[in-house]
Amino acid sequence: MIAAQLLAYYFTELKDDQVKKIDKYLYSMRFSDETLHDIKCRFRRELENGLGRDTNTTATVKMLPTFVRSIPDGSEKGDFLALDLGGSNFRILRVKVTQDKKQPVQMESLVYETPEDIIHGSGTQLFDHVAECLGDFMEKQKIKDKKLPVGFTFSFPCAQTKLDEAVLVTWTKKFKVSGVEGMDVVKLLNKAIKKRGVSTGTNACYMEELRHIDMVEGDEGRMCINTEWGAFGDDGSLEDLRTEFDREIDRGSLNPGKQLFEKMASGMFMGELVRLILVKMAKEGLLFEGRITPELLTKGKIETKHVSAIEKSKEGLTKCKEILTRLGVEPSQEDCVAVQHVCTIVSFRSANLIAATLGGILTRLKDNKGVARLRTTVGIDGSMYKMHPQYARRLHKTVRRLVPDSDVRFLLSESGSAKGAAMVTAVAYRLADQTRQIAQTLAEFRLSKAQLLEVKKRMRTEIENGLGKKTHDSATVKMLPTYVRSTPDGTENGDFLALDLGGTNFRVLLVKIRSGKRRTVEMHNKIYAIPIEVMQGTGEELFDHIVYCISDFLDYMGMKSARLPLGFTFSFPCHQKSLDAGILVNWTKGFKCTDCEGEDVVELLREGIKRKEEFDLDVVAVVNDTVGTMMTCAYEEPTCEVGLIAGTGSNACYMEEMRNIETVEGNEGRMCVNMEWGAFGDNGCLDDIRTQYDRAVDENSLNEGKQRYEKMCSGMYLGEIVRNILIDLTKRGFLFRGKISETLKTRGIFETKFLSQIESDRLALLQVRAILQQLGLDSTCDDSIIVKEVCSTVSRRAAQICGAGMAGVVDKIRENRALDHLDVTVGVDGTLYKLHPHFSRIFHQTVKELAPKCNVNFLLSEDGSGKGAALITAVGCRQREQEALQA
Ligand code: ADP
Ligand code: MG
Repeated sequence: MIAAQLLAYYFTELKDDQVKKIDKYLYSMRFSDETLHDIKCRFRRELENGLGRDTNTTATVKMLPTFVRSIPDGSEKGDFLALDLGGSNFRILRVKVTQDKKQPVQMESLVYETPEDIIHGSGTQLFDHVAECLGDFMEKQKIKDKKLPVGFTFSFPCAQTKLDEAVLVTWTKKFKVSGVEGMDVVKLLNKAIKKRGVSTGTNACYMEELRHIDMVEGDEGRMCINTEWGAFGDDGSLEDLRTEFDREIDRGSLNPGKQLFEKMASGMFMGELVRLILVKMAKEGLLFEGRITPELLTKGKIETKHVSAIEKSKEGLTKCKEILTRLGVEPSQEDCVAVQHVCTIVSFRSANLIAATLGGILTRLKDNKGVARLRTTVGIDGSMYKMHPQYARRLHKTVRRLVPDSDVRFLLSESGSAKGAAMVTAVAYRLADQTRQIAQTLAEFRLSKAQLLEVKKRMRTEIENGLGKKTHDSATVKMLPTYVRSTPDGTENGDFLALDLGGTNFRVLLVKIRSGKRRTVEMHNKIYAIPIEVMQGTGEELFDHIVYCISDFLDYMGMKSARLPLGFTFSFPCHQKSLDAGILVNWTKGFKCTDCEGEDVVELLREGIKRKEEFDLDVVAVVNDTVGTMMTCAYEEPTCEVGLIAGTGSNACYMEEMRNIETVEGNEGRMCVNMEWGAFGDNGCLDDIRTQYDRAVDENSLNEGKQRYEKMCSGMYLGEIVRNILIDLTKRGFLFRGKISETLKTRGIFETKFLSQIESDRLALLQVRAILQQLGLDSTCDDSIIVKEVCSTVSRRAAQICGAGMAGVVDKIRENRALDHLDVTVGVDGTLYKLHPHFSRIFHQTVKELAPKCNVNFLLSEDGSGKGAALITAVGCRQREQEALQA
């Protein structure tokens, strides 16, 4: 009894002693919590570098996107094959995913040897080998004639640009196959499979396993990022922590200087680390009485599984003795205790390192989510985690210590990454099918150059129709004469009032134009709301309201007594017989007042002023906003002979030869023509490019069947087109989890300004999601990717067809003047043009492509509707004086 106690005591003493000795010897491998925190922070920095657009190229931790945007959501079904290459074994699995609750995933797998000569051979050999094994597996499974989709887990750093493409960055671990780096491994695999005549699904897809830890967060889809954290430290950031043993391992590896973190932490190098330590200690006489055997000196003689076995709590020491004996070092009991402790320190360091980097990710997740306490699940794979007796527990404990405000659940990802690959294959298939269907839907909006040239040609035809005497009445693009015969020459002078009706806001302006050496234009204006009941009430109410606003403005400016000349910017189609008369053809945009269509709006305004009996005004000109825009720009830049509006509505004007305007007497000089091109297509000539969504927007509008071109390309309608597409995609189950919310059903909810926001290049997906959230659309990241795509497709088409129309116009001007080449400036106004992140660029590009013989310059107009109206009024006043003189 006493002897036994003594023995136990002696043994504890011995153990303590040995442990202390080893602890001291390997103190640089034992990290304090402070050091671990430090590593966590360093990794967090690396990770952010890897994610940053500007820092990614030089970052060591590459954070490669995997393009897997969803984690399996349970709706996957099917029979899949999965290849798992890059782990210690090459495995092929057949995975059946069913919706059977009890056994959702069934698997059968086979491990294949990968001979050394293939690991160090050529790419062709490697992939041929993979294909051959696949063929064998399919034969054994009796699925040779089945076309099953193949998922490919390829655990090396790859750059992915899409789901089924993966370009190998560099081999790591024991692989060193030539001719594969820089190649798309999915393509290579597919080629090999085809060559071998194995019939699999054509779309092999790919998912990179997150090397040791597969992050599975929450319940919602997001892009999985492969951190490739193995390369952490490759820039020297871990130098202070690396030991001589780590350096030796690196030197002897196939990729010296690379994957330094991996070499410190991964299970693959664990045995080797232990062996190197033992060699050194033996050399120094600290172990085995200095005995060094050839076995001990042989690389690979201590394996990771040995480390696991040695650290088993009960039979560990016995195992240790067995293993060391096999190495021929004749270990004593003391040696065994020491070696066991070396193993503990090495594997503990691995768990600590993994915990620190994982901690870096978790704190980032926590900050991303902005929560006080992070609740998340980490899926873990890797043999160290599964096989080693203490590894998992140590890892959990350290993670919890390093990220205290968290509830982290660890989920063993069973049967490893291959099952993951198959699940991802399933997801990928669902996504691919969905992507295909969405692409099909949006394809209708993608117009070819031929189609755009056709739009340009048709615009030209409609222009001729609008100008022709016989064809004008039935023409859709009305080509209305404006009686503006010249652009400003700089001599304009005086104070003018201007009204701006027809845009988003109604405004009254006072414009003071001064000629002479220092030309100036000074403007004062006030914005007035037009209530919807006035916009859609009677004409009398509308004009009474307008006159009331003028009265208020004159009071405000203290100018009621002056009888000022007035220019009336009225941005609706008007038939003009003179500068100061305009008969409204029809309302457009949001207006629909009774008793106005067919009437002279200048008369209606004068009558309103009379009814008010408060002041008098001299209405000199009725002006379309396009013309005002052109005039404003022409005031600064004489080559400006075209005006364009891309705002609530879409319209253009340009200087046309009088001889071509058959609806006005006279053949001398030019006159500005208000095209009213928004009505382009109202005769059906654009129906072949209109989609069901364009038709839906039209049917829900105030003016069904009218302004078909405008409804495809102006601010008032783009958001509605998007909303209609989103409704359809949701109905088909591709968006918002298939639920059509009340918000989505609300007309007008999706304003064009949201398109601008969503399409901004500076926004991350999370921010897009936040915008949708603000709109009341509860979305996942996948949803926001799709929504963004829908928006950009719709706005791109808008810019392109608008550009096609403009190309038609400038080419006509060029031909009018019989020029081989035309230099011309287009004055532009409109919030869509000014604020949308891509509209103007795509518009310019399209004009350039479709009208190559014109050099078109674009000039933003500053307040064309106000300043331009005043300029036109000034020109009108001058004309009147000249006419009076002549008479
Ligand atoms: P209007 O054409 O009515 O005279 P604007 O040129 O200011 O006036 O255009 C207003 C229209 O521009 C709005 O009706 C809306 O459709 C669109 N819009 C508003 N904000 C934005 C934005 N940020 N990006 C793109 N379009 C916008
Ligand atoms: Mg406007």
